[in-house]
Amino acid sequence: MPVLDRFRLDGRTALVTGGTKGLGRAMAAALAEAGARVAVVSRHGDQVAAVAGELARSTGRQCQGYACDVTDEAQVTQLISQVLDDFGHLDILVNNAGINIRGPIDQLSLDQFLQVQATNVTGPWLMCRAVAPHMKERRYGRVINIGSTLSIIALADRTPYASSKGAILQMTRVLALEWAPYNITVNAMLPGPFATEMNLPLMNDPEAYQSFIAKIPLGRWGELEEIQGLVVFLASDASSFITGAAITIDGGWTVH
Ligand code: NDP
Repeated sequence: MPVLDRFRLDGRTALVTGGTKGLGRAMAAALAEAGARVAVVSRHGDQVAAVAGELARSTGRQCQGYACDVTDEAQVTQLISQVLDDFGHLDILVNNAGINIRGPIDQLSLDQFLQVQATNVTGPWLMCRAVAPHMKERRYGRVINIGSTLSIIALADRTPYASSKGAILQMTRVLALEWAPYNITVNAMLPGPFATEMNLPLMNDPEAYQSFIAKIPLGRWGELEEIQGLVVFLASDASSFITGAAITIDGGWTVH
């Protein structure tokens, strides 16, 4: 097969958590553009419906929105069952939904710490567990976990977030081993700073914004479209021999 055809996702079904905003929305759009049918998930029914509608119109693919809180076990079970009813099968899971609560450890509550772990670690774990029987039975799957540069380096005032992103990297590696016999690949993308809602506090603070630029060899924040190539690659047969990998997409930040 010609190499560019191996990047196509025709006939595949993808699910993107946190697909209504920021990186998740850009990745959902890329997967649909590459040929996949896409399930867009977030906690808000009106937003998932609006985004799925826009993607369906712009790409001509079947795209549907699902309201689900990924931290809720019963909701995740119901979500996967509904998506399988609606689409028939699921090939690609992008665990992207995430939150960040910043602050020095002695100014954070336990509840804030646990909230970040619930969304960034428990959510992907529940999603992976829910898709496991289906993907194992079909002996096919592409699972893409969204970590962060903070999966591998540190910044002050990030104990909840960096702990969670370190954990998702290890979850990726363990599942890569667990699922390799079933032809399910599991990889992590580790983005650097992109201008999304999550980063508004940094973007609105000129000193913080500049301090990131100073750390990044390419000298700028990422553009949303720059997340798209990697997710299509990892979701496609072009990446069939890659599993357990963690790929930075950070303008060179973590090279230091
Ligand atoms: P945004 O804040 O822009 O979007 C987050 C998305 O996740 C929204 O769609 C939100 O929808 C959804 N979400 C949050 N909590 C839940 C939940 N419990 N259940 C279901 N959906 C939920 O984030 P970004 O696009 O910036 O980040 C996306 C991912 O990329 C995150 O995992 C983040 O950690 C990671 N990342 C981002 C970087 C960046 O620079 N932006 C850098 C490195 C990593 P709703 O609130 O409606 O549920």
